[in-house]
Amino acid sequence: MPVGTQGTVKAVPQETLESLGVQIILGNTYHLYLRPGHEAIRRIGGLHKFISWPHALLTDSGGFQVFSLNELRKVTDDGVRFRSHLDGSSHFFTPEHSIDVQIALGADICMAFDECTEYPADRPRAEESLRLTMAWARRSLDHFHAHSHEVPWHEQEFLPPNGGVPPVPRIGGPGRPRTSTDDPSASRMQCFGIVQGGMYTDLRRQCAERLVEMDFDGYAIGGLSVGEPRELTLEMIAETLPLLPRDKPRYVMGVGYPDEIEQYARMGVDMMDCVLPTRAARHGLLFTSEGRLNIKNKQYAEDKGPPDPACDCMVCRRYSRAYLRHLMQSSEALSGTLNTIHNLAFYLGIMRRVRDALQSERAAPVLDR
Ligand SMILES: [Zn+2]
Repeated sequence: MPVGTQGTVKAVPQETLESLGVQIILGNTYHLYLRPGHEAIRRIGGLHKFISWPHALLTDSGGFQVFSLNELRKVTDDGVRFRSHLDGSSHFFTPEHSIDVQIALGADICMAFDECTEYPADRPRAEESLRLTMAWARRSLDHFHAHSHEVPWHEQEFLPPNGGVPPVPRIGGPGRPRTSTDDPSASRMQCFGIVQGGMYTDLRRQCAERLVEMDFDGYAIGGLSVGEPRELTLEMIAETLPLLPRDKPRYVMGVGYPDEIEQYARMGVDMMDCVLPTRAARHGLLFTSEGRLNIKNKQYAEDKGPPDPACDCMVCRRYSRAYLRHLMQSSEALSGTLNTIHNLAFYLGIMRRVRDALQSERAAPVLDR
């Protein structure tokens, strides 16, 4: 899932995301709550309508930003008090409030409010954090069940502001014509729980089992990629994944490098999000079939070749490394756009290949397995 922090995947317009085959993007509740405000987005008809994205959307709970962007936060059993990084104003987030904000934004998938345990965290700290996350998961889900029908888009048509032709048919979310074979849950908002537990496998297990009992629509593994060594990330995923139902989406939050997402997908992870392909692109780091390429390097100044010879994205088909380097050196706005489009195409290509491989394995005759 490309990350659209402020309601935009930075530097890339929605129609380009569509042409890249993006099925779902992520919005950040914390940022959208502070600006332009969830009530404003609700009045406009929800985040889909506001950003003109008729496909699937996921919002996080705001918890990660509350904890990572606020040194002066105060955590109690009830919730978290924090100061806006924009103007210093004071705000209080509870699980109920996080769900209310997410319902106002009206994504297709919302996340339970959790505390992302920092790394490293000693055992008492991880236990205390987990106690909070599990209590907040229960409160998030109860509040979601009581209020999810209040989404601003419920069953409404999706139409662009000029009343013109709606964008391509929906992949998920509001306004998608329902067919008789549709899973009824596909046309309502869903709520995912988040497994925490620091780097302690028994705490992860305990959390996963409790969340599965609560019966969420899907499950995320959170609190990873927070500075721990990669073997530890892998160990936590490998220990937690088998405890989560195979017939529901399993989502690892905040990962990762191209080889990581391929590895996790092959382990059975269905969803991942990361700012890496987009953020790295804006800093001139391109992911390619030949490895990482820093387009700022002088060696590309007169390189007429495409960014990635094995890529057939719209950037690699048309532009040279020399041109991308020049745009970057000149701080041109197009630089971020072209670099990001290629990196997204590269990441999406990995996931497409994994999906194709899984499908052909499934389609292969039983004797061949
Ligand atoms: Zn490309």
